[in-house]
Order: sequence, then structure tokens, then C-alpha cells
Amino acid sequence: MRLNPYGEDAVNLAADLANRRPTSAEELADRCRSAGLVLESPVTAQDMDRLCAVLDEWEKVVDAVDEHERADLVNRMLVAAAAYPRLTDHAGHGWHLHYRDDHQPLGSVLFSLISVGTALHLAGRGMHRLRRCALAGCATIFADTSRTGRQRYCSPRCANCDAVRRHRARATA
Ligand SMILES: [Zn+2]
Ligand SMILES: [Zn+2]
Repeated sequence: MRLNPYGEDAVNLAADLANRRPTSAEELADRCRSAGLVLESPVTAQDMDRLCAVLDEWEKVVDAVDEHERADLVNRMLVAAAAYPRLTDHAGHGWHLHYRDDHQPLGSVLFSLISVGTALHLAGRGMHRLRRCALAGCATIFADTSRTGRQRYCSPRCANCDAVRRHRARATA
């Protein structure tokens, strides 16, 4: 694993997988690799099942009504993913922390990566910095890593689209 769990990589990977869920083990493997994960063993159907369960839990975190509920949901994921943090240099790219036991299948790796990464993102940047796009009809999830922490849309395209809609609504009003 080469993703920096303190950074935005883990939470961005979670959003990417939740927004467009992989439909096959091969696709999951490809997308994890391109996100920088070093896969230790072949991806199986069990990994797909585990990922699906993880993303269902994670979307509840995204849709939590307030920060206390959000914290409770993340804590529940952390309890289930719990392992002692450990130093490792398994990929030969330098020492880093793993929040999981060695030699886990990808489904378990993703579970701890997503749980810990989300907790670190929210604690480090702000509890509100995980949401769905504000454009009606766009449910895309994103982690807000902007400087101001006030990102409302998943993309500039959605922000423009909403601005046009608001302008039209004002014009007809
Ligand atoms: Zn690693
Ligand atoms: Zn959007």
C-alpha cells in the first residue's frame, strides 16, 4: 500500500468507488492499482462483496445528518476495521503505517483504508468536508479538500449548471 492514509487519497478512492461502483473483480483491481494501491493477491468475488458492504456503510457516513451522527458511524467502521497500526516497508518504497494486519485480502485492506482515511480526513480538515454535490439531480460524492472548505459542487461543470439554473429562475420570477 502506497497511498498516504493521512492525505486525501483514501477518501478520494472511496468516493470514486462509491460514485461508480466496480462491476467486476478485474475492474476493482485496475482502479485500485491506478489509485496507487499495491495489490498483494488476486482480487476475488469475496473482495467485491466486502467492498459493497463497506461502501454501503460509508455512504451512510456521507449522508449523516450532523457531525455527531457522522462521528458515530465512522467510529463503528473503525471498531469493525480495528487492528494495531504497524510500520511496514513491504513494497520497498519506504516505511509507512498500515492500520491493518499483514496479508489481508483486498476487501479488508479497503475496509481499513477507507475507515481510517475518512476519519483522518474529517478530523484533520473538518467534519463537514464530505458530501454530495449540491446540484439537484447530481448525487456525486466528493471529499472537500479545498483551501476554504466551502466546496458545494462535485465539479466546475455542476457549479456552472446550477448558476445558470439560478439565473433562469430569477429571470422568470
Ligand atoms: Zn503499504
Ligand atoms: Zn455534481
